[in-house]
Amino acid sequence: MQGISGKYALVTGAAGGIGQAIVARLRKEGAIVCGTDRETAEADHFIQGDLMDARFADSLPQTAQDMIGGLDIVINNAGIITRGEITQATDEDYRRTMAINVEAPFRICRAAIPLMADNGGAIVNLASCWGVHPGPNHPLYVMSKAAVASLTQCLGLDHAHQGIRVNAVCPNEVNTPMLRTGFAARGLDPDAAIETLNASVPLGRIAEAQDIADVVAFLASDDARYMCGALLEVNGGKPVQ
Ligand code: NAD
Repeated sequence: MQGISGKYALVTGAAGGIGQAIVARLRKEGAIVCGTDRETAEADHFIQGDLMDARFADSLPQTAQDMIGGLDIVINNAGIITRGEITQATDEDYRRTMAINVEAPFRICRAAIPLMADNGGAIVNLASCWGVHPGPNHPLYVMSKAAVASLTQCLGLDHAHQGIRVNAVCPNEVNTPMLRTGFAARGLDPDAAIETLNASVPLGRIAEAQDIADVVAFLASDDARYMCGALLEVNGGKPVQ
């Protein structure tokens, strides 16, 4: 992969299923990676904190740059899934979903872009296939991911002239704690539920975190030098049903 070696990267949600895979893939390509999460995570450098804290999110790009020596790549990966129909949603569900999934990427992009403006760079946001094609019974999650998709398209347009490419990956189901805890909460065995789901995917299986991390790394690399504002669906051929 061209143009990742020696670059400085910030990855949010670095302790999560997809986040760990992104950190590992970027490091394998030779990037110097600063991970951040509420939980501790493996990375070259790590910043612990809560993205619901506005000051923490605002200061993250500068803190990461000071810690690792530069900032070329930002991956807004942290996210939560809020399940259930709107009639079951509390004010706190709304506030929390929007704070982590939308407001934190907004704050991080706003602070990172001026830092990247001199040398250019790449921002990759984790949206979701549901941010492009809404799925049932998750209105808060779906609207938050639609906002991430829209933010990506807007920033891709507005900052291309600075050499900053902003793109998003939109996965369908990925075998991570986010998906597995959903099955467990519904009283299902996650392994059995994933076996069933695998049969619904044209490529024969749902995604592993590495499948998503590889596409994130591609978008962060110079191999994607002519891509900006794109919403890349990574779904094994399975449309949203
Ligand atoms: P995950 O639950 O395994 O990881 C999410 C990480 O975000 C966790 O490590 C968590 O600690 C961190 N995080 C959550 N709230 C935080 C906060 N307030 N402050 C700091 N860190 C916080 O989930 P994942 O499956 O790895 O998801 C990664 C991204 O991919 C998310 O944005 C998710 O919406 C998106 N996505 C996942 C799937 C899927 O099926 N797993 C599908 C489409 C999109």
